[in-house]
Amino acid sequence: MLRLSQKMSRLGTETAFEVLARAEALARTGKDVINLGIGQPDFKTPPHVVEAAIKALRDGHHGYTPSPGIPRVREAVAADLAARRGVEVDPGRIVVVPGGKVTMFFAILMFGEPGAEILYPNPGFPIYESMINFTGAKAVPIPLLEEKDFSFDPDAVLDSITPDTRLLIVNSPANPTGGAVSREAFDRLVAGLAEHPHVAVMSDEIYARMVYDGREHVSLLGYPELADRLILLDGWSKTYAMTGWRMGYAVWPEALVEHATRLAVNCHSCVNAAAQFAGIAALEGPQDAVDTMVAAFDERRKVIVDGLNAIPGFSCRTPGGAFYAFPNITGTGMNARKLQNRMLEEAGVATVAGTSFGSFGEGYIRFSYANSVENIRRALDRIGELMSSEVSA
Ligand code: PLP
Repeated sequence: MLRLSQKMSRLGTETAFEVLARAEALARTGKDVINLGIGQPDFKTPPHVVEAAIKALRDGHHGYTPSPGIPRVREAVAADLAARRGVEVDPGRIVVVPGGKVTMFFAILMFGEPGAEILYPNPGFPIYESMINFTGAKAVPIPLLEEKDFSFDPDAVLDSITPDTRLLIVNSPANPTGGAVSREAFDRLVAGLAEHPHVAVMSDEIYARMVYDGREHVSLLGYPELADRLILLDGWSKTYAMTGWRMGYAVWPEALVEHATRLAVNCHSCVNAAAQFAGIAALEGPQDAVDTMVAAFDERRKVIVDGLNAIPGFSCRTPGGAFYAFPNITGTGMNARKLQNRMLEEAGVATVAGTSFGSFGEGYIRFSYANSVENIRRALDRIGELMSSEVSA
């Protein structure tokens, strides 16, 4: 009889991967499935980035690298942060990890334990809640509200802080809602945090480059008063269409760099060497591929929002960032999971139920529009047909 630790029963999952597996299984039976479920760009990694990795392998970069990352990568990240976020960061505070997820894993492990409380967005990236539960800490949701364009109420967040709160997680632009938090909301939050110096903040800014309608990306790195307690999570996955390369980074407060590095040594030793060279090329090379991709997402965003709003029972706000639409589907009379399953099985459209992102996601479905306009239109037609037959049935 194997005796697993208790905490294994508390670990959640990311349903998008299950939906992907089900969609692929259906496709293997010959069904035409349009995948609006998975959150990854449908573009290829820019060729000069791929070439940099190939060159690194040919040049013999086959060994371990320093655990927090090759110095050149950390310097390239610091230069990128200075250029894009206007903040000078010592490269020594940057830890390169295999994907954005690893930073959240480390941050939540660092602060979570029984008796501790961690505030996290709900609906939000499912791994936050999963990992908080795993550590035995209390997961305290920050509700993201449709009527606030899926932002939060900063005063409500501040009111949720107790002496046991260790970490506050924010994510803007957000998965799954596409919500982008305004500068005013962040100003208010940061001002209020001055009264709670015991609370660390993890700002997940992995979608920083994907903001629309002339919006600016508001980075918490721009608030110097948070420097000694801010963990800034970012990476290459979404920006450079590099989800499979597993490249992410964080800026850690000075006092936490050693802890993050120790976790890295205990976990993965270092990131794949060739991938790190690709990461340098991505940051330092031409950015036109990123601009082209974001322009394509913007066009698709408009198509999907208009199309969803034309479907009976759906009502969709215009997302400010990322590549997700998060329509309210309460008008269909179905719960999120049921509608997700019916869209997949009857209409051949893969999406993810809002409840996969937390209890506050009931009544919503996440659509990833990282797919072609043509496929998005076909998917909308199919769902429209499904819903009209539902209404006339
Ligand atoms: N943070 C958010 C909000 C995400 O949506 C994702 C991926 O979907 C990640 C982090 C993880 O990114 P990575 O694939 O680099 O681990």
